[in-house]
Amino acid sequence: MHSETFLLHGVYDPDTFGGVVNPPVYRASTIVFRNMEDMEARAKAMSTPEGQELWYGRKGTPTTFALQEMLARLEGGHRSLLVSSGLAACTSAIMAFVKTGDHILICDSVYGPTRHFADTVLKRCGVAVTYYDPTIGPGIGELFRPNTTVVFLESPGSQSFEVQDVPGICAQARRRGAKVVMDNTWATPLFFKPFEHGVDVSVHAATKYIVGHSDATMGVITANKAAWGSVREYVFAAGLHAGADDVYLAQRGLRTMAVRLERHFRHGVSIAKWLADRPEVERVLHPALPGTPGHEIWKRDYTGASGLFSVVLKPIFGREAFRSFIDSLQLFGLGFSWGGYESLVMPFDPSHERPGSHWPYEGFAFRLHIGLEAKEDLIEDLETAFRVLHLQVEQAL
Ligand SMILES: *Cc1c(COP(=O)(O)O)cnc(C)c1O
Repeated sequence: MHSETFLLHGVYDPDTFGGVVNPPVYRASTIVFRNMEDMEARAKAMSTPEGQELWYGRKGTPTTFALQEMLARLEGGHRSLLVSSGLAACTSAIMAFVKTGDHILICDSVYGPTRHFADTVLKRCGVAVTYYDPTIGPGIGELFRPNTTVVFLESPGSQSFEVQDVPGICAQARRRGAKVVMDNTWATPLFFKPFEHGVDVSVHAATKYIVGHSDATMGVITANKAAWGSVREYVFAAGLHAGADDVYLAQRGLRTMAVRLERHFRHGVSIAKWLADRPEVERVLHPALPGTPGHEIWKRDYTGASGLFSVVLKPIFGREAFRSFIDSLQLFGLGFSWGGYESLVMPFDPSHERPGSHWPYEGFAFRLHIGLEAKEDLIEDLETAFRVLHLQVEQAL
């Protein structure tokens, strides 16, 4: 079955849900047992890594189990767990494999809040972090120490969109017994299959394309068989959980993810190309465009692209002109997150967020999320903003 079909028929089960097509919302804290024997039998099952019983609301309900099963199978992992946000998925997937005295490797292009967690909580717990160049590939081998337990990847990188050589890095980690955790949010499970490329644990901000409608936050952690027990132990021990209504929204969003992604992909590439030809633009950073670091790897390992990419303006445009450009956009909302149906813009400055790393551009930069609007309307919006940009420059002279 193709993934597109699986999204629609994956966990349809007339017996479990009484014929209801989409798994309904089970709201629960208490689950009552039939008797003590029943309670003891489920306790025994839950004490093993593979145990999945109706036990207590925090540990899942049929609503949760259905989405978890669907996501694990879609991505090709062993099992999945849902947590309350994408960030919680990133931090838990690391916490499941570290202890005081360990060392971990994180790509320098990592999502800012994941980096913040490493620089604060992990540091306080005595876990050392080395940030590596996301284009390092198999060269990462030289950065391992005897106590390196985790390699964290995010491909493509947040804001700068370097595509990582996932198989090349995984091979090095496997030789040294470290677990590979990958943030696969950008590609979704449709355009990149992490487990086929050697990843041990994959995380997603389901908040983005899985929920798809900007109305809930959620994280997914999917592990292979060897990593599953540690992930489950940490998530349950820490009391992480996703609320029933949010799980339902994610399940509902997931049904249409393939059709939405097809359009995000197509319109994203075509607007990225249009921007690359504009005289105001220094560089478009989009994995599907030549010149973006790792473009060849994207062609080798990925089957598509989502609607998120970055644009760097020529350094001739100053701060005021840049601000007026961003502020004059009407269809691109100025706001965090992405992956919903609407287009968004987010200015960024890597010199703040990636101290000490190499960013070869001097111009102002912004990230775009290409939503599901008509492409012509989005281009017209950008054209108007470019006119305002020039007006600002002229007025300043
Ligand atoms: C948004 C995002 C997250 C965090 O997701 P939240 O649900 O907002 O916590 C993690 N990783 C990446 C790549 C993201 O874009």
